[in-house]
Amino acid sequence: MAVKITDICISCGSCIDECPVGAIVDDVDNPTGEDTYYVYADKCVECVGHNDEPACANACPTDGCIVWSDIVEGQPSRDDIGANLRDGTNPVVA
Ligand code: SF4
Ligand code: SF4
Repeated sequence: MAVKITDICISCGSCIDECPVGAIVDDVDNPTGEDTYYVYADKCVECVGHNDEPACANACPTDGCIVWSDIVEGQPSRDDIGANLRDGTNPVVA
């Protein structure tokens, strides 16, 4: 599991320095070419072992911008996230 940043990201930069593992890149370095920030799912550890909640989502001022993404095998994940968050359409932090 990882988090992902959706297309409503306003590229404010509030999240990037909060990530303990350097999983977030800015719009310039976004490998998809989208004009938003981006989370490398193979680096994101959902802040397990670092913070009680995903720090990027807590820092983000845009409601619904950071959501749960696909499971990445071998990466830490949170088991208590709730089934309604698993489809990636709901925000990590309501
Ligand atoms: S959930 Fe934590 S590890 Fe994952 S991108 Fe956000 S700040 Fe980084
Ligand atoms: S804090 Fe939210 S809106 Fe700001 S750059 Fe990060 S994902 Fe985008």
